[in-house]
Amino acid sequence: MRIILLGPPGAGKGTQAVGIAETFGVPHISTGDILRANVRDGTSLGVEAKRFMDAGDLVPDEVIIGMVDSRIAEPDAVAGFLLDGFPRTVPQAEALEALLVEREAPLDVVLRLSVPHDEVVRRLTGRRTCDGCGRIFHLVADPPATDGVCDDCGGALTQRDDDREEVVRRRLEVYTTQTEPLEHFYWERGLLRDVEAVGTPEEVAASATAVLRQYGAPR
Ligand code: AMP
Repeated sequence: MRIILLGPPGAGKGTQAVGIAETFGVPHISTGDILRANVRDGTSLGVEAKRFMDAGDLVPDEVIIGMVDSRIAEPDAVAGFLLDGFPRTVPQAEALEALLVEREAPLDVVLRLSVPHDEVVRRLTGRRTCDGCGRIFHLVADPPATDGVCDDCGGALTQRDDDREEVVRRRLEVYTTQTEPLEHFYWERGLLRDVEAVGTPEEVAASATAVLRQYGAPR
């Protein structure tokens, strides 16, 4: 199954993507995760991307499209994938469409997670990630037992540079101007489905799975 997960930053795409990928047996491809790994490893791509990411801006389309093109060509993605954080602009969506036509591998569904903007700001500014195992905590909704320390592995919890409030607001503005037009793009193609991303992560996962089951069987 080929799925795109769409929604503003903080809609819970990352959390939901992990569960959906597991349920439907497809690789979870997050362009944000790939970029952060490059930043961590100090690659030239990472160095170039970091300044855009820290400002809450989008990394240039040609960089991202090349990155996704090679990732979806890997063997584990031939039968399907879940894209999280890509496409983010109409040119990215057009490039993806062309790549998939060439490979005769059409998309099945675009699942949009909707959530109000003020809720997004609350969620993202409280988010903390474990440097060790990547587990995500929330200062209010899901705090660690000890301040700043991961319950699972004892690693240090840090705030993503782009989760600071002013950057979150900028990311939302970028979402509205550059990514929201994709909703129309996919609606026109009959691919857009909506899930309200409010409630517990388990409730959202249940709604998302119910929609996705109409397009493919869980493994
Ligand atoms: P995310 O983890 O998906 O919120 O991505 C974090 C940051 O990485 C974004 O704010 C962008 O700077 C960059 N990024 C991730 N995916 C894309 C994309 N498809 N196009 C452009 N920039 C991206």
